[in-house]
Amino acid sequence: MSSGTTNRFDVAVLGAGAAGMMCAAVAGQRGARVVLVDHATRIAEKIRISGGGRCNFTNLQAGPANYLSSNPHFSRSALARYTPQDFLALMRRYDIGWHEKHRGQLFCNESAEDVIRMLRAECDGGGVTWRTGCGIEEVRREGDDYLLVTTQGTLRAGALVVATGGLSIPKIGATDLGYRIARQFGLKIVDTRPALVPLTFDGQAWQPFVPLAGVSMEVDIATGSGKTAGAFKEDLLWTHRGLSGPAVLQISSFWRPGAPIDIDLFDGEDAADWLIGHKRGSRKHLANLLAERLPSRLADA
Ligand SMILES: Cc1cc2nc3c(=O)[nH]c(=O)nc-3n(C[C@H](O)[C@H](O)[C@H](O)COP(=O)(O)OP(=O)(O)OC[C@H]3O[C@@H](n4cnc5c(N)ncnc54)[C@H](O)[C@@H]3O)c2cc1C
Repeated sequence: MSSGTTNRFDVAVLGAGAAGMMCAAVAGQRGARVVLVDHATRIAEKIRISGGGRCNFTNLQAGPANYLSSNPHFSRSALARYTPQDFLALMRRYDIGWHEKHRGQLFCNESAEDVIRMLRAECDGGGVTWRTGCGIEEVRREGDDYLLVTTQGTLRAGALVVATGGLSIPKIGATDLGYRIARQFGLKIVDTRPALVPLTFDGQAWQPFVPLAGVSMEVDIATGSGKTAGAFKEDLLWTHRGLSGPAVLQISSFWRPGAPIDIDLFDGEDAADWLIGHKRGSRKHLANLLAERLPSRLADA
């Protein structure tokens, strides 16, 4: 492919994930000539695996307080201009069925693939040019343009959007390209660390809890103090390797190695007091009594 005028675009978007496709589609529909570049041939893999394959695509209560940033106002204007209802309107236009699972979490009825197809169609509606399976070898400024040297030739664009995602799951295409480009252009980078992840434990130490895998229950979970404190009332899920579920995914974003995580399984009550109070005068087996407050498998354990 030669680097002639046909390869000049108003906007080059790097990364055809949720962010890149949405951005490319909107820019294209507003009349910009957009090229969307991704090194993967199978795009949007993270959408595909999201929400257990059904994509938890928004939350009815999504708001600025749900976003972590050293600038808490950062997400305010974006969320004010594009609300969960706007995304639902888009889903309706594509006749994609959805349901509310819990606490405002919305999932596709059928498959996350529906969201991918919708975003693809939105890009096509904006006349977006696709470059998939296209590695990015170099990004540099040339005059007023950004010049991209790719495995499919050279591209030029007046504006560059870097939407190559985070570092999680390199197996499905994640790389540090966004961080490298940021560094190259002298932008400050916040240290990266895992967020919204399950907690895994040392295999041997976790062995006694393995039989609890699959048990789910609402808990109060908290860690940290002061400005970096996190506290949630959410569902916790026991797994073969540790703890997961919304409670743990949420708290993982606040946890610092070495810091304790407090998990209250008993809704703020003192479990010993409750047990003593209820065992007195009762002939119930301890596990049966506990099962009034805890999932029975946990009470048995
Ligand atoms: C298991 C799992 C479940 C999840 N479930 C949910 C959920 O239910 N709901 C929810 O809202 N979020 C969920 N998330 C988070 C969500 O998937 C991500 O936040 C979101 O997909 C990120 O979108 P993105 O466009 O920023 O990045 P990505 O989806 O990561 O897209 C980045 C794109 O850039 C491309 N790219 C990367 N490096 C290069 C490079 N060097 N050259 C060219 N292209 C490159 C990649 O191939 C990829 O297509 C989940 C995440 C995981 C891992």
